[in-house]
Amino acid sequence: MIKKHLFISIILSLLFVFALTGCDDEDAAVSGGAYEPPETTPANFDEIQPGFTAYDPRVEMIEINQSLSYGFDVDTGEFFLLDHFAAGKETAIFVTFKESVNSVLGNQASCFINIVKDGGTVAQLTWVDYYDEYTLYFQPKNMADAGNWSSGAYTFELYLGEDTPAAVRTTNFYDAKEIRIFAVPVLTNYSGRIYSCTSAWQSASDMIYATFPTAKSNIDYVLGPELNMADVDITTDDGMYDLWDSLRKLQTPNNDYTVIIGFIPYPIEVRDGAILGYTYELPAVIVSEDNSEMMNTIIHEIAHCYGVGDEYEGGSLNTKVNTPPYRMSGQDMYSYRTVYGEKEHVVSGFDRGVNGEGSMIYPEQRPFYVEGRSALPNVSSYMGSGTDAEAFEKWVSSEIWIHLFRSFTGQSGGSVISGISAPSDGGSDEFWDDYWDDSSSGNDYDDVWVRCPNCCACIQNPEVYVECESCWSLWEASASDSSYNCNNCGTNGRCDGDNLYIYCDSCEYLISIDYFESYNSKVQAGGPAMQKSAGKMVKAIEITGYIDSEDGSFTPLPWYTYDELSSELITRKEGDYCVYFFDERDRMLYSSYFNVNFGAQITTTEGTTYSPQSKAPVNVVTRFPENTARIVIIKDEGEVYSTNVSKTDPVVSFTGLKEGDRLSDQVTLTWEASGEKDELFFDLWYCPAEDDYYNIATNVTGRSYDADLSSYPGTDDGWFYIYASDGVRTGEADSPSVKVPFKAPEFISSQESVPEFKITEEICFDAEIYDMQDGWLWDEEVSWTLDGREFVTGSFLWVWPYELAPGDHIFTCTATNSAGMSAEKDFTFRVLDDESDLPDDWSREDIKNALSNGFVTSINKLDAPVTRGQYATLMTTLYWSVLYSDDPLPDYIENIVSDCGQDDYDQFLMVHLGVMEAKDGKFEPAKPLTEKEAALIMYRIVCLADPELLEEYGPAEKDILEFYSDYGIFDKSGPNEYMASENLTNRLALVRLSRLFDVFFE
Ligand SMILES: [Zn+2]
Ligand SMILES: [Zn+2]
Ligand SMILES: [Zn+2]
Repeated sequence: MIKKHLFISIILSLLFVFALTGCDDEDAAVSGGAYEPPETTPANFDEIQPGFTAYDPRVEMIEINQSLSYGFDVDTGEFFLLDHFAAGKETAIFVTFKESVNSVLGNQASCFINIVKDGGTVAQLTWVDYYDEYTLYFQPKNMADAGNWSSGAYTFELYLGEDTPAAVRTTNFYDAKEIRIFAVPVLTNYSGRIYSCTSAWQSASDMIYATFPTAKSNIDYVLGPELNMADVDITTDDGMYDLWDSLRKLQTPNNDYTVIIGFIPYPIEVRDGAILGYTYELPAVIVSEDNSEMMNTIIHEIAHCYGVGDEYEGGSLNTKVNTPPYRMSGQDMYSYRTVYGEKEHVVSGFDRGVNGEGSMIYPEQRPFYVEGRSALPNVSSYMGSGTDAEAFEKWVSSEIWIHLFRSFTGQSGGSVISGISAPSDGGSDEFWDDYWDDSSSGNDYDDVWVRCPNCCACIQNPEVYVECESCWSLWEASASDSSYNCNNCGTNGRCDGDNLYIYCDSCEYLISIDYFESYNSKVQAGGPAMQKSAGKMVKAIEITGYIDSEDGSFTPLPWYTYDELSSELITRKEGDYCVYFFDERDRMLYSSYFNVNFGAQITTTEGTTYSPQSKAPVNVVTRFPENTARIVIIKDEGEVYSTNVSKTDPVVSFTGLKEGDRLSDQVTLTWEASGEKDELFFDLWYCPAEDDYYNIATNVTGRSYDADLSSYPGTDDGWFYIYASDGVRTGEADSPSVKVPFKAPEFISSQESVPEFKITEEICFDAEIYDMQDGWLWDEEVSWTLDGREFVTGSFLWVWPYELAPGDHIFTCTATNSAGMSAEKDFTFRVLDDESDLPDDWSREDIKNALSNGFVTSINKLDAPVTRGQYATLMTTLYWSVLYSDDPLPDYIENIVSDCGQDDYDQFLMVHLGVMEAKDGKFEPAKPLTEKEAALIMYRIVCLADPELLEEYGPAEKDILEFYSDYGIFDKSGPNEYMASENLTNRLALVRLSRLFDVFFE
C-alpha cells in the first residue's frame, strides 16, 4: 500500500553527514518578536490590468471574482488584478465606476454584461444589486445560466446603453484537478465516556467549494462509515496517536484521497485548555465537530496537502509558497529548519483588527463568498491559527489562491498577456528536450514553470541527478544525458526517465524525470494529477512505525511489500535517518533517507500550551531489493532497529466465498494463510467497484473477521481484498465477486425551525442528499412535490410564494439512487401575509395583482428597464397560464437561441412562436425594450390567444394602441402613459400585464 508520500531510496556512495540546523538562524534577515506593523493600509493598485480595456472613461474595472478580485503583492505591498480562474466554478462579476453608479446609469439606462466564450455569446447578465455606491454586482442565478462556466477563452463586454461595449475584459477559465476528501466520523472514547458525532461533519464542505480553485463537481466530499475507536482513550497521548494512525490506514492503495478527515464529537480537554484538532502527518487529520473553526480547519489542512504552509507563530511554514506575517517564525514544513517571515508588507490579521493570526486579506481585494452571494470584509488567511473564528471569518489569500490555481490547472494565469504558461503539450518530447537544454544552459524558459509532484513548488533550473542501476550511487548530471559511466563501480548504462532525477529544493526530494514530466502534463491537461506514469514495475516496501521521543527507539507496525512503478518512488537526497537493506552476506543492497518530526501539529483553544510529543511517525515507501535478508534503521551511525527478512512471501486466500454470493451486511470473512514466520498480520479491503477501496480492518491476526458492511456502499459486483504481512514480506489475494445490499440515499439537510418568507419574497432552498453508492445527489434523481403534485426536479427548490396562500406549506423532496432505492423528506416553509415590500404608490395594487398571478420579476428593481430575457419570461407566463393552458407546449430545440445560458425555454418559446426575434440565434436577453417594442410583443401574444378580442382593431400601430387604451392597459396621462421610445421598466411591465390579465378574466 502506498501512502501519500512515496519515497525511493538511493545510496550515495559517499555518505555525507549533512548539517541540517544552525545556518538559517544566522542568515535570516529578521528574527521573531518586537515587530511593529506598518501604520498605513496599502492603497496602491498595480497599473497592469491584464486583459482589461475601458472605452468609456467612467468605467474603473470589470472584476471577475471566484473568492477575491485583487491580489496582494507581498514584495511591493500593492494590489494587483487577479487573473486566475477555474472552469466550472461559481463566479461573480463586479463593475466599478469612477463616479457613482447612479450618475452613470441615470434613470433609465440599461447596463448589462455580455459573456462571450470562444467567440459565441453564452449569456447576458443584468446586475443583481448595488454592491456599494460605485460598484455593481453581477452573478448568474445558477451556473447553467452561464454555460456552467466551462473552460475556454472569455470576453466580458460591459454595455451601458450604447451599441458598443463601454469596457471589456478578456481571460481564460481553465479546467482544474480533482480533490477527494474522505470524511470519517469517529466513535470516540473520552476517558471512558463514549460519544458519536452529530451530523455537522456531513455538511462541512461549503468552504472547500468556496475557496479552492476548481469546479465544485471536481470536489468529492466522500462521507465515510463510522470509525469505531471506543477501545482507545483519546485523552491520552497514545490514544491521540492511535486514532491518527487508524485514519491514516484508510488511505487507498491508489492514494485516492487528498486528505482523510476524522471528526471527533468534542474537543479533547487537556491540562490548560482543549485540543480542537491535530495531525502527526498528512494525509490524516483530526477535527473536533463541536468547534466554530471546523470548516476553517478543514480547508487549512487540505491546503497543507498542496504545500501551503502555516501562518502562525511556531507553525509549519513554507515561505516559498505563502509568506507568513513579517518576523513570524516556525519550522520549514519539509526541512524542519527554523524560518521567518521576511516580507515587511505582510501583516497578520490581528494587526488590522481582524480575527486571525494569518496574513491580512484586505477589503480592497474584495473577498467574496460567491456561492453564498455575500461579501466578507473582515478576513485573514485560513493558514493562521485557531482563535474561535467562525466559518467565513477566514479566507484564501491571493498567494495561496494563485499557488493552488497553478498547481491545479498547470497555467500561470488566465490572460494571454500575463506570461507564458506551462507547456501546452507537457508530455511532448520536443518541449522537454528544449526545456532541459535551456534549463542547463541559462535558459529562456524563465516564464515557464513546472511543479514538483511532491510539494507543488515551482521548480526552475532544477538540479538533475543520475543513479547507477548497479550500485545505486548518485551524481549530478544533465537531463539531456543519454548514457552514464558510473564513477563508483564502472558500469556503463543508459540514462532514462527512471534513473534521471530532478531535485526539488523546496521539499528536498528527488523525483524521476518520468514522474515529473507526467505529473506536469497531467496537471496541464486538467485531469487528475498523480496518475500512474510510465516506468517499470519494481518491488516496493512501506516501512511504518514510530520513534519514541524519550529513548529514540523505533516500534514497527507490520510492513507491506508490493509492486510499484519505479518512476513513482521518490526519495530524500539526505536525511537524519537511513534505512539500509543487506543481503545474506551482509552486503549493502540499497538505502533510503528519511526525517521524522516529533511535533504533532495541533490546533487548540487560546492559551493552551499542551502538546503531545511522545511519538514521531515513520512512513517510508522505498525500493525493496528481492534478495534482502536484513533491514536496519540507522541514526547518526547508530543502529536504531534491525529485523531479519524471510525468503518468501506469505501465501493467503479467502475461504468460504463463492462467485456471485449474495451477502448480508453482516458477514464473517475467513481465509487461510501460511508463511515462514509464525505471526501474520492481515489487512482487509472491500471494493464495491473498480478503484473504489475501503479499508475495513487492519493488522488482524486471526483467520476470520466479522465485518459490518451496513455503512458501506452496496454492490452487484464487488469483492474483498486481503494483504498478509509477516512483518516485512507480503502476500495478497482477492475474493470471488460478491453482492452486498444497496443502501438508500440519506438526507443531510434538515430544518430546525420553519423558515418564514414574505409573500413577495422568493423561497430558495437547496437540499443536501448523499448516497453511499452515487455520492451527492442534486440533479434529475431528486424531485419536489407539493400536495402530491410534481413541483420541480433537482435538489434546488425555487418557489414564488404568491403561488401559495399565506400559511405553512409542506414540500416533499424525493431522491432516488442508481440502484432504484428512494428516500424522501418533508420540508416546511411558512408564507407570511406580509406585503410590506410592495411599492407604496399608484402602482401597488397592479403590481400585487401581477405577482399573485405568477408574473415574477425582481421588485427591488422596479424602475430599472425590464430586459428582453425577463420580458420573455413574463410573456411565457401570460401565454401558458392564461391562454393555452391545456395545450402542450413545444419541445425545446437547441440553438434557436444561443446566448441565453442553458436551455432557456422562455426565450426559445418566444422566438419559436414568432413573438420575439433572435437574429442568428442571438436573443440578446439583457438588452432593454422600448415601450413600443414591448407593446407589440404583448399584442402578438393576444393575437395567438384570443383573436376575437382584437376583431374591431386593425394591425396598424395606432390600432394596437387604441386597443390598449380602450381596455385601460395604458393611462391617458400620468406615470402609466404610453411613451413609445422610452425603455419599458419592470414597474410598467407588471402594471400593464396585470391589467391585460384582468381583461381576459373579466
Ligand atoms: Zn497547519
Ligand atoms: Zn555504479
Ligand atoms: Zn518538492
